[in-house]
Amino acid sequence: MTTKAVQAYLQEHHDRFLAELTDWLKIPSVSTSAEYAGEMRRAAAWVQEKFESIGFPVVEIMPTAGHPLVYAEWTAHPGQPTLLIYGHYDVQPAEPLEAWLSPPFDPAIRDGNIYARGSVDDKGQVMLVLAALEAWSRAGCGMPINVKVILEGEEETGGESIAAWVRSGTDRLRADAVLICDTHMIGEKQPSLITGLRGILYTEITAYGAARDLHSGSYGGVAPNPIHALCLLISRLKGEDGVIRIPELAAELRPAPADEKEFWNSDPLKLEEALCREMGVETLVGEDKYPPLERIGARPTLEVHGIRGGFTDPGIKTVIPAEATAKVSLRLPAGLKPEEVFTWLEKAVRHCSPAGHRIEVTRLNGGEGLVVSPENPFIRAAAEAIETTYGEKPVFMREGGSIPVAALFDQVLQVPVILMGFGLPDDGPHGPNEKLSLAQFKKGMATVADFLGRLRQ
Ligand SMILES: [Zn+2]
Repeated sequence: MTTKAVQAYLQEHHDRFLAELTDWLKIPSVSTSAEYAGEMRRAAAWVQEKFESIGFPVVEIMPTAGHPLVYAEWTAHPGQPTLLIYGHYDVQPAEPLEAWLSPPFDPAIRDGNIYARGSVDDKGQVMLVLAALEAWSRAGCGMPINVKVILEGEEETGGESIAAWVRSGTDRLRADAVLICDTHMIGEKQPSLITGLRGILYTEITAYGAARDLHSGSYGGVAPNPIHALCLLISRLKGEDGVIRIPELAAELRPAPADEKEFWNSDPLKLEEALCREMGVETLVGEDKYPPLERIGARPTLEVHGIRGGFTDPGIKTVIPAEATAKVSLRLPAGLKPEEVFTWLEKAVRHCSPAGHRIEVTRLNGGEGLVVSPENPFIRAAAEAIETTYGEKPVFMREGGSIPVAALFDQVLQVPVILMGFGLPDDGPHGPNEKLSLAQFKKGMATVADFLGRLRQ
């Protein structure tokens, strides 16, 4: 339970928290491109300073083979539970820049939202946690529990350094629960807590045809065409019915628990309409025998993200390309191991490849999914904190996205992982005009502060 003083502190200092977030968002901490390495260090230093100003006795920037981890620790109460909080300070590239209404690294406030790359994913959500921690530290109440915070700079590029840190089993990891604020809610009026994430396997499939590019007049009709081969292959792996034809994968899919199935089938959130509206489409596609919540939360996907090859400039060139590459990922229900699914995919590709082409599959990265039981005191405290702020009980639901480090925390620490996110479905985290609702920012810090207080024993 939050003391009044903590909530009053959050109200009183709200504008400064927003100003601080704005400063942090101005640093283009794009982890995927080497040219931003200096900005990554600046973004890490910014948050290091913030931890110090909050009063954390231990704050450290830990170098890695990639971008640094930032660690802060406040363990003043041996008898109290320890919460490990995870977040990330890196952001996705902002391109295409012309699609932004205001520059991605010059935060703008419009219609009750702050627009900037990283606003919801994840700097804004880390900032609301920092505000809650500062409020406990500064409002005269003292930190209610032991807190450890680990922030990484490689979330958008595979998260290898944090994975190594978690696997190292360091003492610093020891905690009774993990809190991650990097997901979204169904709506401002309908809060939710995430009880499941899908895993991911990301691959590249390359098809090779002739030894060199060919003229379609001289060779069309007899030459292999790798782009066409990829199209055939992909449509054999997943047909118009949305069913993925990888036999071993199909065999491993388990029916969902009855209570979740009932919730999905009843579609209390009118998700079909909402999704059509959000996407700007007339109808949903995919496996229509499963309701949308189940398709997003608990069924696997196979998506093509791009195909490279041949001629795509304006005008005409009648080339038959010698090779083509498709980026293909699978989202995987919790319990499936990406390495194993990769071997099944390779086998299916061999089986489905059109004759006359050589096809190679490369695994780019992967991470497991996660299912969290709603039956533990930490999740109950999170649900109560949400209800206190929103005046509405949260619904428990799975999210379709992947946070591989969440699954890793679950496996290594074996403690509850609380996925309490404050994004909204239309925030557009990886796209242009990414935003964070200011109302959610405010409610988020109130909720996290309340949650921390509830954990005190
Ligand atoms: Zn994120």
